Amino acid sequence: MLIYDSIVVGGGPAGSTAARAMSRAGLKVLLLEKEKMPRHKCCAGGVPRKVNELLDFDISPWCESPVREVVFSWLSRKPQFMSDRSLLGWVVKRELFDHLLLRRARAAGTRVKEGCEFIGLEEDGDFVRVSTAGGEVRGRTLIGADGARSRVARLLGLARYTQFGFALETRVRVPAAALAERRDRVYFDLGGVPGGYSWIFPLRDCLDVGVATRRSSFRGLRKCLRDCLAREELSSEGSHSIIRGGTLAFRVLPFGLMKGHSLLTGDAGGMTDRLTGEGIYPAIRSGLCAARAVEDYLDGRSGLSAYQKLIRKDLGVDLLLANLLSRFAGAFPRLIFDLGCSDKGRIKKAMGVVQGELAYRDLFFKKDSSRS
Ligand SMILES: Cc1cc2nc3c(=O)[nH]c(=O)nc-3n(C[C@H](O)[C@H](O)[C@H](O)COP(=O)(O)OP(=O)(O)OC[C@H]3O[C@@H](n4cnc5c(N)ncnc54)[C@H](O)[C@@H]3O)c2cc1C
Repeated sequence: MLIYDSIVVGGGPAGSTAARAMSRAGLKVLLLEKEKMPRHKCCAGGVPRKVNELLDFDISPWCESPVREVVFSWLSRKPQFMSDRSLLGWVVKRELFDHLLLRRARAAGTRVKEGCEFIGLEEDGDFVRVSTAGGEVRGRTLIGADGARSRVARLLGLARYTQFGFALETRVRVPAAALAERRDRVYFDLGGVPGGYSWIFPLRDCLDVGVATRRSSFRGLRKCLRDCLAREELSSEGSHSIIRGGTLAFRVLPFGLMKGHSLLTGDAGGMTDRLTGEGIYPAIRSGLCAARAVEDYLDGRSGLSAYQKLIRKDLGVDLLLANLLSRFAGAFPRLIFDLGCSDKGRIKKAMGVVQGELAYRDLFFKKDSSRS
């Protein structure tokens, strides 16, 4: 039986990025994705500019709308427009974006099995035996990139470190003029969702509207979404009736990300930024770290546990700060809104974080440095 250098479970941003990087390094990689692509992924699709800098190809032609302005409001009032009109990022449709990343992995040499669900794993000496809906496969390493409710993490006993939040989203059709008015802008509204916020992001042909909370149990989220749509006068005819729900996965500290020959990346490792709900960038970044750790391990340069060090160095401090800030924001949302919107210097720094020019730590430890 063929033994893969690495088996990647999940074809989202984390899995496809890890698979592509390893294939480009000459490794034999198998990626298992339970859905057939393109598949829907519940997500607002906000992609900061820094994502383009991580990937070595330009994603902008596949994006729905550029983002040049962020608007913060309190219960849909007091809108604060933040921008110097430079490019902050894009909004993507995840079904298209994820399909693109998966195609890139395949083009780099990854063997992709779509519609093939991962079922279980078992350590067997130097290998991992993986059972799938299509039979057994073997790998020298395994990367769990199977999202927030990761089966890989559960089977490894590592899911207990993850905390969960929830989000709902819907796509709303609006007249062309209303769509044009919101083009290039993403809207975040505070005050309407306990422990979270609502958003309105522009797509090419509609708006993506949603609500997110960091709370692990919260029953009123659907009402928060309805209230948000009503406040924004988006709830009348033309609205899509489909409301989809998704899980956000956070960790206080990036520990418990590996066991035996297996690593966890992206949402499977709880890498979402707890303050903003941003998970695509950390998924891609952790996917790259996982690929590097696997290459180094197979070359005998280091143990697989070096992965956790890479993650702590790359993302650890920022995830920790996002966690602390989110707790403060959850307890004092109005104070955060007033403080955040009242000072031009602070706004500029916040924009720098969104774009990727600054990290959270720069808000505290440096004045105006650029990210290295
Ligand atoms: C409503 C909502 C809005 C969001 N908005 C944003 C946003 O605007 N910007 C942002 O940066 N982040 C956002 N996020 C977070 C972001 O969606 C995630 O952090 C990101 O998708 C993580 O990527 P991933 O590759 O780790 O996992 P995923 O994208 O979840 O990919 C996991 C893949 O694994 C597959 N899979 C699962 N189980 C198995 C199995 N057993 N076998 C085989 N395959 C399997 C799934 O089908 C899926 O394709 C949002 C999340 C939600 C819920």
